Amino acid sequence: MAKEEYKQLSCSDVGMACGFQVRAKTEAEVMKHAKTHATEAHGLKEISANTEKKIKEAIKTVSVDVPEKK
Ligand SMILES: [Zn+2]
Repeated sequence: MAKEEYKQLSCSDVGMACGFQVRAKTEAEVMKHAKTHATEAHGLKEISANTEKKIKEAIKTVSVDVPEKK
C-alpha cells in the first residue's frame, strides 16, 4: 500500500453537530465542498471571512492508504 496525503475537514471540527466530512487533494477543493455543504446543509447565506478562517484552521492533513500504482 502506498500513502497519499489528503486535506480533511470535519464539520464537528468547526463546532457543528454534524457528521459531514470532506477529504480532497487540495485545501482549495476542501473549501469548495465545505462552502457548498455549509450553504445547503446549514443554511448559511454566505461564508464570512471569519468563518472561512475557522474552516481553514480546522483542515487537517491526513495520510490515506491507496493501492499501489502499477
Ligand atoms: Zn455540517
